[in-house]
Amino acid sequence: MQQLSFKLTSKNKLTHDVYELIFTTPETIQVEPGQYTLFMLPKSKLRRAYSIGYTDGQTFTFIIKQIEGGAGSTEICSLEIGEEIMGMIPLGHFVLKANTTPKLFIGTGTGFAPLYFQIRAMMDTDIETPLLFLFGVRNVVDIFYTEILDQMKEQYPLFNYQLFLSQEETKGTIHGRVTDFLTPENIATYGEFYLCGSPAMVKDAREKLGNLGIEKEKVFFEQY
Ligand SMILES: Cc1cc2nc3c(=O)[nH]c(=O)nc-3n(C[C@H](O)[C@H](O)[C@H](O)COP(=O)(O)OP(=O)(O)OC[C@H]3O[C@@H](n4cnc5c(N)ncnc54)[C@H](O)[C@@H]3O)c2cc1C
Repeated sequence: MQQLSFKLTSKNKLTHDVYELIFTTPETIQVEPGQYTLFMLPKSKLRRAYSIGYTDGQTFTFIIKQIEGGAGSTEICSLEIGEEIMGMIPLGHFVLKANTTPKLFIGTGTGFAPLYFQIRAMMDTDIETPLLFLFGVRNVVDIFYTEILDQMKEQYPLFNYQLFLSQEETKGTIHGRVTDFLTPENIATYGEFYLCGSPAMVKDAREKLGNLGIEKEKVFFEQY
């Protein structure tokens, strides 16, 4: 683990409250897909963890929800291009198992970030493993990155994703919770399960997978 300076090089508002922030570091760092950075925020003096959404080792993408009344997320999402903050990296044990077992990824909200990195990492090295991503948000306005996910589908025929909206019915999405997907038929072909999102979703998914006879060792999760 190292402490490094992260310089903001790009900032995109993905939805009404989610930002994509891209930072560069002065040196290349080896990280595993699913790990996170602990940022030291200079104004509030808070320390906040953010999952790495993608990296080539020197350019780091984060997907951060600016929470109303949230001091840390508001400070980091208010950074201007060129500003630098310190971060400790790499941290965390929610890492991809680099094998050919078909994988189901389940994420809600910004729980998207580490799963996205894990899926991209699989695609970078392996073209034969089926990957399915279930991405859940509340409403259409909370959806992001679908163009990128569509491109990934084209490039990697064994990848697919499904969008779940818990509070709205719209064409092309499934009305319900991501955990509704967890039935014996739907999960039959998957051997590993990666979960990231709210504690309630992770708890529900773990319970359902357990009831379906999936061993704990096959279920990996991070919650926030
Ligand atoms: C390992 C790890 C990885 C993480 N990765 C990400 C990430 O990639 N993207 C990301 O956006 N966040 C991520 N988080 C969450 C992040 O670290 C902060 O907890 C979050 O940004 C809130 O911090 P804050 O200072 O803004 O809010 P706080 O000041 O800590 O909280 C303000 C209020 O918001 C509530 N609150 C806290 N979190 C949430 C939430 N997620 N949704 C709704 N209300 C909330 C609190 O209960 C409190 O009432 C991660 C957390 C962990 C532990």
